[in-house]
Amino acid sequence: MHELSIAQGILDIIRDEAEKNSIERISAVRLKLGKLTAVEPSSLSFCFELITKGTLAEGARLEIETVPITGRCAQCGREFTLEDPFCNCPVCQGLKIDILTGREFYICEIETDD
Ligand SMILES: [Zn+2]
Repeated sequence: MHELSIAQGILDIIRDEAEKNSIERISAVRLKLGKLTAVEPSSLSFCFELITKGTLAEGARLEIETVPITGRCAQCGREFTLEDPFCNCPVCQGLKIDILTGREFYICEIETDD
């Protein structure tokens, strides 16, 4: 299960940060998640809840901000939002699209209780 290992990775980062900053309790974690990562937010939340039981992040909210896929056409230079990474350019039908956003996957904020 893909999302479970990701949730585990998030918990590892949180633990690291908590240790560095002497944080004892995490109340929320904010994530940026690009659509190209193919991670299912609800499934990730579920896994996160599951693996944080008994840890410093138990009961913490996982706030996921989804980032849409945007690209720029290599042929005409137009920027647009893509439904999937294999679309062609809506303007010139060009096939070569440089992906600008959608691969994001990082923690932007960790909220603590105090
Ligand atoms: Zn184009």
